[in-house]
Order: sequence, then C-alpha cells, then structure tokens
Amino acid sequence: MSWEKNVRKVVPYVAGEQPQNKNVIKLNTNECPYPPAPGVERVLHSFDYDILRKYPDPDVSLLVDALAKRHGLSREQVFVGVGSDDVLAMSFLTFFNADRPILFPDITYSFYDVWADLYKIPYECQPLDENFQIRKTDYQKPNGGIVIANPNAPTGVCEDIAFFEDIIKANPDSVVIVDEAYIDFGGKSCVPLIERYENLLVVQTFSKSRALAGLRIGYAMGSKKLIKYLNDVKFSFNSYTMNAVTIQAGTASVENEEYFQLITAKIVETRENTKKRLEALDFVFPNSMTNFIFASHKRVPAQELFDVLRQNEIYVRHWNKPRIENYLRISIGTDEEMKTVLDFLEQYLKGR
Ligand SMILES: *Cc1c(COP(=O)(O)O)cnc(C)c1O
Repeated sequence: MSWEKNVRKVVPYVAGEQPQNKNVIKLNTNECPYPPAPGVERVLHSFDYDILRKYPDPDVSLLVDALAKRHGLSREQVFVGVGSDDVLAMSFLTFFNADRPILFPDITYSFYDVWADLYKIPYECQPLDENFQIRKTDYQKPNGGIVIANPNAPTGVCEDIAFFEDIIKANPDSVVIVDEAYIDFGGKSCVPLIERYENLLVVQTFSKSRALAGLRIGYAMGSKKLIKYLNDVKFSFNSYTMNAVTIQAGTASVENEEYFQLITAKIVETRENTKKRLEALDFVFPNSMTNFIFASHKRVPAQELFDVLRQNEIYVRHWNKPRIENYLRISIGTDEEMKTVLDFLEQYLKGR
C-alpha cells in the first residue's frame, strides 16, 4: 500500500512485564519494594480536586524549585518530564542533531537505540570490555553526542566522576548525557560537574529510588543554556506534560529527604546481603551499585533459571541477546522477598 511506505516505522522498546497476579514476587523492573514517602500519601488524601478544572503549571515551578533546592542548583538548571524516558527522548530530539553518530555502550538501557531510530539519529555502539566495563577511549573520537547510563543497566557497573570528567573534556563539541537512574544506591553523581561543563546533562528519575514509578517523574540537570534548549523543544511539542496531581505529590517526595535516605540505605543493605548469598550459590556478577544484580550461574543456564523461577511466581528479567543471554537481572526486593527467592534457588540448585 502506497501510504504505508511513508509511515515512520519503528521497532518499539519492550518494557518488563507487569503481572496482574498479586502473589508474584516481582523483581523484574527495578521498582522500589517500599511505599512512597508518607508526604505523598498526605498530598493525595487532601488533594483539592477543584485544581483539576484548570491546566497545570506548564513550568512545573513547585517541583522544579524543590529539585533545584535539593541539588543546590538554580531553577534554570532543572528540567522535569513524565519519567526520565520522556526527559531522555526530549534530550535526544534536542541535542542529537548532527550527521556524525552518537555513541553509547553495546550493552545498556535498550531504549537508547529505539529513540535514535525513531528520530533517525545515526549511532554507533561501543562494546563493553569482557568485565562489562566501559572503555573510556571509545568515547574519545568524533561523534554527534554521547549517552551513558551510570551506573550502567543492566550490568549495575558504576564509574566515578573523574571517568566522566575525562569523557566530557574530550568532547567539548558534543552534548554528553549521563543517565543516573540508579545513582541513589551508592554511586557518585556527576551533578557537581554541571557548573564547569556547559555540555553535560545529568538525568535522574523518581521511579527507582523514590518508589514512584507509577507517578512518572524524571528530570534533567544541566547548564542554563542546555535547559533553555530543552524547554524550547518541550514547548514546541506539548506544554502540559506533567499533571497537577503529580506535581504536588512529586514535590512532597522531594521534601521528604529523611525517608528517601532511609529506604535507599535499606535497599543497599539488602543488596549487599544478597550478593553474599548469590556468591555462595555459585553465581557470578559484576559488582552492582544499583537496586538490582546482574547474575550468571556457573553451571545452570539463565533461561532455565528464568523459567523455573517464573513457574514459581518469581519474576526476574532475562534478555535473549548476544553476550548477556546467560544473565538474569534480579531487582532487590525486601529482605523477606530476597530470602524467599534465595531459599528457592538454593533448593533448586541442590537438585541440579
Ligand atoms: C528505569 C530507567 C529509565 C526510565 O525510568 P523512568 O521510569 O522513565 O523515569 C531510564 N534509564 C534507565 C537506565 C533506567 O533503568
């Protein structure tokens, strides 16, 4: 059919499964096992519905100001969106507009190549080394932009600030995006570099460490110039992306710093205990600084473990992709959930 040849055809991103069955131990999409901050509940219970008659604040000032304050930035250095997926998609559209390819690792968040294809941005994947480490020199060549998740997903490997500073220094002509979806679980954020490098954009999310995946909030931090360019594109696309309920609830989460520190520290503690037990069960994994562990068993194939876990209502993530087909990505749940999963694996592996 003739009209079909002009359709923008894309192979969409496939998100992890959201089972309706409540009995499932759900460790497949890196959600937080704890409830959102108590302030979020208070906002939702006392919400003034009359506000919904009107359009929400297109500048999202309440939330932008709360985030700017928390990170020691000015409001002109913060951009918010409907999840970091929205922020990243806007950033690709805004900043990756060169003829030269953008660069990102071969094993990383699998949305990057989808956006690149959608916007017809040329890209070149840079292979991680055999330990799933990013090779800095791969990002010290001509390019049209760089996007790196730190810690990387699904590997969990984290690099330090100096590593990114070297990459940014080598690329004054490109925008460098650091996707910090998992930075709150022990890594060091690149936010302090923002003041020195006008071309650095740091992206974070409320979905993992703030237990608010369902609310959809992500944000970018960068120089006033970068944020201005992002806003220009956003306001050329859809002015009212964030709804009034989300703005208030999200702000309450940011204002509850103590609760945030409590749950992220708890998840880190559970992760470290999980590492010890997985090691004892003959799993190998890169050292994770996130709320998941990317593990491979020394004897038993990942597909087999994935299937048997699933049959027992334990959901983890597995990709049939080169280099990672023998790995499972296991999100960190509560201590109780992890005990159930590890006890199950212990029993199963005894019989294998
Ligand atoms: C989860 C995730 C995101 C997207 O999160 P949102 O829910 O859209 O905020 C972005 N990047 C990475 C690496 C992620 O793991």
